[in-house]
Amino acid sequence: MRFLPVFLDLQTGPVLLVGSGDLARAKLRLLSAAGAHVIWYAPGGNHDVSGLEPADAARIELATGDPLAADLGGVIAILCAGAGDIGPAMSARAKAVGLPVNVMDDLAHSSFIFPAIVDRGDVVVAVGTGGASPVVARRVRERIEALLPARIGDLATFIGRWRKQVHNRIPEFPLRRRFWERVVDGPIGALVLAGRGEEADAALKDIPDPAAFAGAQASGQAEGRVTLVGAGPGDPDLLTIKALRALQDADVVFYDELVSSEILDRARRDASRVPVGRRVGKPGIGQDAINKLTIEAAKSGQRVVRLKGGDPFVFGRGGEEVEALREAGVAYSVVPGITAGLGAAAQFEVPLTFRHEALRVTFLTAHKARDAETVDWSVLTDEKMTVVVYMGMTAAPSVRAGLLAAGRSPQTPVGVLARVTRPDAQAVVGTLDELPALIHEIDGGPAILIIGDVVAHSAPWRHSNQVMSKLLDAAE
Ligand code: SAH
Repeated sequence: MRFLPVFLDLQTGPVLLVGSGDLARAKLRLLSAAGAHVIWYAPGGNHDVSGLEPADAARIELATGDPLAADLGGVIAILCAGAGDIGPAMSARAKAVGLPVNVMDDLAHSSFIFPAIVDRGDVVVAVGTGGASPVVARRVRERIEALLPARIGDLATFIGRWRKQVHNRIPEFPLRRRFWERVVDGPIGALVLAGRGEEADAALKDIPDPAAFAGAQASGQAEGRVTLVGAGPGDPDLLTIKALRALQDADVVFYDELVSSEILDRARRDASRVPVGRRVGKPGIGQDAINKLTIEAAKSGQRVVRLKGGDPFVFGRGGEEVEALREAGVAYSVVPGITAGLGAAAQFEVPLTFRHEALRVTFLTAHKARDAETVDWSVLTDEKMTVVVYMGMTAAPSVRAGLLAAGRSPQTPVGVLARVTRPDAQAVVGTLDELPALIHEIDGGPAILIIGDVVAHSAPWRHSNQVMSKLLDAAE
């Protein structure tokens, strides 16, 4: 992000516009609609204000003479649209006195740019692409337009009107935020969006105890809770809508090592983010300490998100955390995530079950060689069972030995699937016999192993076979 979207208060001073023709008129329309006071220099002297409302036109000061010599006293920004060669010169002048300047279609001479705008009264959405592509910005804008209720601006205005009164009755900020969330998400918000503003006013006025409405505890503070959220294997678009909502409502996020920064970016801006994961080979803060932190945060009235890679209940120790929360009497809920095995299967097109070929799937972990030794491989003899191994990189030789001892064919297809659903995802395929060697072809974890005949249906397997048959053809 190079350009930070900020909103300019046009009541604080005039905007200087240099330019003529349709381009200048388009900017005039935009500025007038926002209530701006404009000083307009039109090179060539053609000040055509046709098509503007008389009231808007009245706020436009038609200036003559050389814009490069214009008095900039009080001016808050400079725009050049259809200004020809004067644009770069105006830009230099603006920069010399520290004024923000935009020269239309000329990024090099602009210190700010115009976003695509969704305008719903008090709700304004600005969409930018850093000047790269107005077409993309417009497409994004269209999608947002389609998503927003027509009266979303009325909702903001409604809250703006009541803000001060509610502030006086609920001085604590966290509780007040929850009050407004309940208004926006509940029947009062629905009334405003349905255009029934007066009924909404009456309903808000009738709330007998605003703090209780906001869910205050007997202690007077907001009710804290913990949400265990599955973050999925890495791609932020694989978050569930519930996960996104929990992240947007969070006061604090305790996250694991495996959670990608793109996913953390989806959390509320003001939420604090606390890493509690352990890296392979390095100690983390320990499960008891994590439990203590989340419980304390919830008991102090915060909304806690415990964000875990994949699914919290698949090799994620979510079960232990839930037990600790239950024991501590803290309110909690669990939001499932896409576990790495399913993410890997979808990305590399490994059908985990397949008619007649694979009738069962087993998820297992072989964390350390020791774990691998304690796995009862004899239950994995069934050839029609797909085996998905978590944390299996270092234990790969034991996994191979265990499955071979259980009678699995050394020719059983195997996929080692790394960093799945991330931009640098990688797949290596081969046979069970080759498994330890396949691991060495991986450029870093996390990686998951999928073992079973179904791997032969996967995209990387088919690809490697194509490459192989081409090589054989070439050799013949
Ligand atoms: N709860 C997580 C698993 C945590 S155990 C889940 O449901 O996915 C950690 C193991 O998960 C890693 O050793 C690796 O085997 C697997 N894993 C997690 N993210 C992965 C990813 N993006 N690609 C491949 N494997 C992944």
